[in-house]
Amino acid sequence: MTSRSGQYVIPAMHAIEGAGFHVRRPFPTPNLPMVDPFLLLDHMGPQDHAPGEAEGAPDHPHRGFETVSYILEGAFEHKDSVGNAGRIGPGAVQWMTAGAGVVHSEMPAAEIRTDGGRLHGFQVWVNLPAAAKMMPPRYQDVLATDVPEVELDEGRVTVRVIAGDLAGASAAARTHTPIAYWHLRLQPGGRFVGPVPDAWNAMAYVVDGSVVAGGASADEGHLVLFAPDGDEVVVVAGEAPADVLLLAGEPIREPVARYGPFVMNTREEIIEAFEDYQAGRMGRITV
Ligand code: MN
Repeated sequence: MTSRSGQYVIPAMHAIEGAGFHVRRPFPTPNLPMVDPFLLLDHMGPQDHAPGEAEGAPDHPHRGFETVSYILEGAFEHKDSVGNAGRIGPGAVQWMTAGAGVVHSEMPAAEIRTDGGRLHGFQVWVNLPAAAKMMPPRYQDVLATDVPEVELDEGRVTVRVIAGDLAGASAAARTHTPIAYWHLRLQPGGRFVGPVPDAWNAMAYVVDGSVVAGGASADEGHLVLFAPDGDEVVVVAGEAPADVLLLAGEPIREPVARYGPFVMNTREEIIEAFEDYQAGRMGRITV
């Protein structure tokens, strides 16, 4: 196995989403529009909200890709035009395939909006290949207890397997293209080594603490993009514990036309998406 080098260290930008919640966003940015097949990484919080202050993303559409929500603290409630409604709590994952189109709302849980509370989580956007962009919408709700956990480096590294396989554990969520999404929790000095096929793109986002990833030092809120020069990635914690998201995937290598909540292959398909949404053909929320 050959270890990949950390090629770029990219600070997350600050962005405001939905009705006004703040996120840290390592990409897309003008310098890093995507990391094929990943279109976006948003880090929400951790933030303590006073009563009446927590904002979410009320009714909005998506088409042509998947939104993957992973919550560490607090809870979100979702409902959509297909009739689904549910709650994502700490440790849980919602893998939502927008496909041909869905209108959904993603809001902090009612008790957090009313009484205040802490929110911490992530949303990743995963592109779909052209052949799957217009598939019927699909939800995969993965409970926290159904996310496999792997212990490595004599217990100094714990990995939650959100997508893909690691050390004999397989994630519950099914993906359309090969993807690894691993949440690494490293104790001081903990060293993670994971296999990533050399044709895949790979990155490590530092949620908390400081690490050395592929030889590159990175602090909280920074993304390390690995060079395509090996078939494994190495992430090492310093003298404090660290929390890292490791994302890797086989690139789709198709043209990307994106605007707001729609990600297609051509500009014409984006216009069609707007027309379909405005004409109500993506439905509305009635639940
Ligand atoms: Mn959404």
